Amino acid sequence: MTTAALTNFVLAGTDEIFQQINVERLRQVLKFGDQSIAGSVSDLTRLRILVEEVGEVAEALDVEHANTKRELCAELVQVAACAVGWLQALQKATT
Ligand SMILES: [Mg+2]
Repeated sequence: MTTAALTNFVLAGTDEIFQQINVERLRQVLKFGDQSIAGSVSDLTRLRILVEEVGEVAEALDVEHANTKRELCAELVQVAACAVGWLQALQKATT
């Protein structure tokens, strides 16, 4: 596979996914404030929030839970948005 073909394969559909993550980031900031500000939230608190969101992914996979692909996708987007917020805080702390 050429580099261009590999790039196209890897990036297929990611525009929509990243847009969903950005929308979720905005929702999180509106609900909880801008936690991407360096030092506003400790790394341990960020880890707890991220793990809680990962737990909600696990709940969405629970066979006894009335899960749907849509719910699983929403939870995964929330995990990604939390990680992005943490990365933004780390980025702001080093610039
Ligand atoms: Mg969640």
